[in-house]
Amino acid sequence: MSVKPEESPSESSKSNSSDNKPQEIRYVNLYEAEEKVYIRRITGFYQRLRRYISAPLIIGFILMPWLVIDGRPAMLFDLPARQFNILWVTFSPQDGVYLAWLLIIAAFLLFTVTVMVGRVWCGFTCPQTVWTQMYIWAELLCEGDRNKRIKLDAQQWSGEKFLRKAGKHAIWIAIALVTAMTFVGYFTPVRDLVVSFFTFQLDLTAVFWVLFFTGATYGNAGFMREQVCKYMCPYARFQSVMYDHDTLTVFYDKERGENRGPRKSGEDYKAQGLGDCIDCSWCVQVCPVNIDIREGLQAECIDCGLCIDACDSVMEKMNYPLGLISFTTEDAAAKKKVKILRPRVLGYGAVLLAMVSLFVYSLATRMPLLVEVMRDRGTQMFRITDGNVSNVYTLKIENLDRKTHVYDVRVSGDFAFDIQGYKAPPILEGEIITLPVRVVVKRSELKGEKNTVKFTVIARENPEIVISHSTTFIGPSK
Ligand code: SF4
Ligand code: SF4
Repeated sequence: MSVKPEESPSESSKSNSSDNKPQEIRYVNLYEAEEKVYIRRITGFYQRLRRYISAPLIIGFILMPWLVIDGRPAMLFDLPARQFNILWVTFSPQDGVYLAWLLIIAAFLLFTVTVMVGRVWCGFTCPQTVWTQMYIWAELLCEGDRNKRIKLDAQQWSGEKFLRKAGKHAIWIAIALVTAMTFVGYFTPVRDLVVSFFTFQLDLTAVFWVLFFTGATYGNAGFMREQVCKYMCPYARFQSVMYDHDTLTVFYDKERGENRGPRKSGEDYKAQGLGDCIDCSWCVQVCPVNIDIREGLQAECIDCGLCIDACDSVMEKMNYPLGLISFTTEDAAAKKKVKILRPRVLGYGAVLLAMVSLFVYSLATRMPLLVEVMRDRGTQMFRITDGNVSNVYTLKIENLDRKTHVYDVRVSGDFAFDIQGYKAPPILEGEIITLPVRVVVKRSELKGEKNTVKFTVIARENPEIVISHSTTFIGPSK
């Protein structure tokens, strides 16, 4: 935020005309515009690693909604049908606990990875980073490297400038559109979506979301870029809490690099009091968040390693040893003993392992059936006819399996309960049926007012799909 005292010429002349005392008008700028970052093209180990990691992620993201498993999309969050297909399982809103569980596991995985290897998620796999990488590629392709882009921006508009800019924005919009269509394809069948899009038959809701995500991708990866990481991402705010002295991070070797400064080749720079840093600023020019790693560990650094590639290529040209900037830990840099298994890593790791094991177990033993039994309170508590006592219940059965089932219902308990009025209908996948049923028992058998009756609902063709539910059976007091 900057505060700029300025005087408006028009306001100033007004004040002079009234009392001849110039009044100072202060303008406070609450928004400091970010300097445009012109990233330099760089090749090297970490740049290649970023590509090798991001390429399968992008391909996976685009192909996943097109994949079909058991005749249905491998990944489809069908909100109107309240069905969420994830690979071989179809979840219903009642399975929300699995989603919550998954989010907690993801959070602990992030904590464990961060405490060990810093912000590699940010630098290598985060969608903001991966999409920005694609957008930078389009920028380099159409407008050239850093110096050419600076020159192009400073130039007057010309045919060439227009074509270069138009080409870049066309690629950006195409990437944004594919991203938006793919993302919406996770919520509506992607084949229908694409066909409707190209035949101009998309409904308004789909049009809105496609346009919304196209705009969001174009804005985030094209213009906001590092500002998303610096100011919008909550993870950037609290990641420093997870760091310790043995967390791997990008580190500039100050002792070796300083004093920094230019030098002529062949000169004994050490005799001049210079270190290995030639102050070429390449490490800053390649940095996607526009920081200078030589100023020490900074919250903005996403651990992408591009400054390492840049500096190594400079060191190579100068015939100096590589690694002036490197991935290392604070303790390793200070020549102290590095501890890999430390309490924080073990703590996060243990919680993560426990959560994953429980999650896998509960998923493997998940019953694709939901049963609710409610004693009918609208009618009499019980009825006595022909020496039998009866209670009425409402039975709710939800089929969470991927095929139609017929469910048999049995009742049991301390007495010889019997069920009346239940005819087992076929229940389709995802369907819920609600049925009134009557449970009867001989009055002579009942011992008291409050008794327990157990309902067992069992799939006829697969007895492993079974749920039991106990409830109260009310009888006469004597
Ligand atoms: S300082 Fe280096 S590692 Fe950190 S964001 Fe910039 S280029 Fe990436
Ligand atoms: S790239 Fe290396 S040599 Fe160049 S300024 Fe950065 S640290 Fe110094």
